[in-house]
Amino acid sequence: MSLEPIVLVHGGAGDIPRERVEGKLEGVRLAATIGYRKLQETGNVLDAVEEAVRSMELDPYFNAGYGSVLTSDGNVEMEASIMNGATLRAGCVSLVNDIYHPISLARKVMKTPHNFLAGDGAMRLAEQEGIQKLEPGQLVTDYARIALEEWREGQLRGEMEYARTEIGAKNKYKDKGEFGTVGAVAIDIEGNIAVATSTGGITGKLPGRVGDTPLVGAGTYADNRVGGVSTTGHGETIMRYSLAHEILKRIEFLGQSAQEATKNSCRSMTERLIGTAGAITIDFEGRVGISFTSERMAWAYLKGNTMHYGIEQDQHLTQRV
Ligand code: ASP
Repeated sequence: MSLEPIVLVHGGAGDIPRERVEGKLEGVRLAATIGYRKLQETGNVLDAVEEAVRSMELDPYFNAGYGSVLTSDGNVEMEASIMNGATLRAGCVSLVNDIYHPISLARKVMKTPHNFLAGDGAMRLAEQEGIQKLEPGQLVTDYARIALEEWREGQLRGEMEYARTEIGAKNKYKDKGEFGTVGAVAIDIEGNIAVATSTGGITGKLPGRVGDTPLVGAGTYADNRVGGVSTTGHGETIMRYSLAHEILKRIEFLGQSAQEATKNSCRSMTERLIGTAGAITIDFEGRVGISFTSERMAWAYLKGNTMHYGIEQDQHLTQRV
């Protein structure tokens, strides 16, 4: 089998404010370029998705690594997952802080006998692996601080907390904080697929809250026989719907195209559970699916010498590179 390599990325689904649109588009195009170069350099899809995500983890336009949103008590608690579609091996981390690249720590978890490390144990692995430890607060941006202040003001006004009710999920998630979980899916000429996803979670989350992003089947899934998916949006909703896995099951068992499966799954999820989300997919034949039920989601992919990108519903722009 000989396919055209693709690196596809997203920069988070949500009610993204207009003034953040350009910065996010630049960030996703850059990440797709960096991931694609890495794929050409090493020929390894895991390297490609890790590198694409690392670039967005350093970019304050995204809610991952530097620029992560804050918990209700003002701290960063990050999560990430990475999966190899050839072996179905996965590495996942949650409740990590003071490192720039949770995705690289997630990849290190793949070397252990486990799939998932959280909190102190994950931080101990980071230390053993020589991952740079930052000073407390170094990942916190003004934007994240302001988002938390707005969230707290909303709480004082008695607005419903998203985590508590489904209606609240919709309203609150629409209004507050940064939407910029990041993800990447890559396929090489032999049909090897890898997926990586990284996030700071949602503004005002309770300390210790775990979302969809580090969960295999919800935030991330990769299987060379079917495809790869990275999701973003309201974590409590995505998790209950196993969104990444749902998309791949539609491809596998219903024979839907990557685009149909991605769109139908996101829509069915939002109809049933109210919370909104977006997803990016590449199927085993290298077909791409991109869909979101939120207002916006930044995405980009590089295939051959064309960059494809967009952020609005039904927007698909191209640029020769
Ligand atoms: N899914 C992430 C979470 O709920 C947030 C996002 O994608 O914006 O933690």
